Amino acid sequence: MANLTSLLTVGGAEDVALGVPGGATFTYRRLRELVDEASESLAAAGVQPGMRVAMAFPNGPEAIIFFLAAATVATACPLNPGYTETEFRYYLEDIGAQFLLVPPDDGAAARKGRPSTARLLNAEISDDGKLRMAPTSTLPRKREREKTLPLDDDVALVLHTSGTTSRPKRVPLRHRNLAASVENIVASYELTPADVSLCIMPLFHVHGLVASALAAFASGGSVVVPKQFAPLGFWPIARDVKPTWFSASPTPHQLIVMRGHEDRPPGTERLRFVRSCSAALAPALMAVMEQRFGVPVLEAYGMTEASHQMSSNPLPPGPRYPGSVGVGTGVEIAVLDEQGTALPAGATGQVGIRGPNVIDGYENNPDANATSFINGWFLTGDQGTLDAAGYLRLLGRLKELINRGGEKIAPREIDEALESHPAVKEAVAFGVSHPTWGEEVAAAVVVERPVTEKELQAFCRQSLADFKVPRHIYIVEAIPRTPTGKVQRRFVAEQFAPK
Ligand code: AMP
Repeated sequence: MANLTSLLTVGGAEDVALGVPGGATFTYRRLRELVDEASESLAAAGVQPGMRVAMAFPNGPEAIIFFLAAATVATACPLNPGYTETEFRYYLEDIGAQFLLVPPDDGAAARKGRPSTARLLNAEISDDGKLRMAPTSTLPRKREREKTLPLDDDVALVLHTSGTTSRPKRVPLRHRNLAASVENIVASYELTPADVSLCIMPLFHVHGLVASALAAFASGGSVVVPKQFAPLGFWPIARDVKPTWFSASPTPHQLIVMRGHEDRPPGTERLRFVRSCSAALAPALMAVMEQRFGVPVLEAYGMTEASHQMSSNPLPPGPRYPGSVGVGTGVEIAVLDEQGTALPAGATGQVGIRGPNVIDGYENNPDANATSFINGWFLTGDQGTLDAAGYLRLLGRLKELINRGGEKIAPREIDEALESHPAVKEAVAFGVSHPTWGEEVAAAVVVERPVTEKELQAFCRQSLADFKVPRHIYIVEAIPRTPTGKVQRRFVAEQFAPK
């Protein structure tokens, strides 16, 4: 498979492809029909190859069906439905969205943030599993619309990734990149049509979309998508759907194991393995999870620029090691020195990757491209070390992004939000460690007139989604600088944030 259009052809027509707990179930036949119908409706509304179709849906069939439809006729750009109006405006303009799909009775912030250049389409899959899109068509309806399948090189998906010094960067993922990633994931976990994936990660991020959903389809298996992740709701759903696997970042895993103290509770009967990715899994948590779920817990390493997965610990009989993100999965991994030369086992350096799932480059960003590739390797911005057997351990990050429960936050975006407050002269955001989230956003600010932490947080909330609002704001006399006058976030964090 080199193209997502063949993704839904593996599963048997009458096999279940997608289900919503307590809601609709879709066979592969029905899912294919809905994706075709949605593609046709998009084309009828004027969507053409190369156009950007943004969408803001909570988890559910819409997020999957409209993604696949938009990626078939143009480029899909899923956005976090929790963004504020300001964030929507920024992302929609940055993407150059020509269309915006939202649920008919929802998406107020997306609607308000919509630039006039993006046409609004209300789209939903009704409770009885029917597609509705309005306005349906602006073009004269052709009897037989010419269907052009996307090329392997066409961009199927555009996502943003958190930049270090700048605003988020645009990541164009081509059909061939996504297809390669999905196949790598299927191979890593030996997924088959008998597998049932429970998707609890957001579908506007590669983790939920590519690993939990698309990989399930590529193996002819099924995916169950609750509308939202609620730790209390996890076990009742698992009891009903009996997943064979699920994947999440460590924060949801921790919340799940905290709900109940029984080992192998109902809902775990069919589990084969549990996957953790997107942030470091503490060995102690991994041990509790293995005890609770009674199956191997496989830590993987993923990144938007790699269409998600780069490495994973293998299924038994392969060994898995706590604290390691495993071995390359269809992806070459090297630990590089500053000249881009691969270092021997045991040495520490920047993790470089190469493979068919990796982007050719960021979109419209020559500076980022000049610094992100060396000798054919894509530089991940993570520091690590490989052992002689090819197992990778991540040791730190060279990039400054804040990783809150797997959700990446560009500190510069927080600085800018704070600095737009009239009382703030300078702001520096950074991550501080948190027992459940891994990291949490904090900031140090220098003010010109008195203002409280609460006032600044309320101000941030107007332009930043809730997860980005700093939980602690330290009002300080001056921001410490290095001897060369640079601001180093880590250094600022050490100065102000209590350990
Ligand atoms: P994203 O593009 O949001 O998927 O974020 C990618 C980044 O998440 C990586 O470059 C790492 O910094 C981090 N990450 C992903 N998986 C892991 C992991 N298993 N352990 C530690 N960090 C991880």
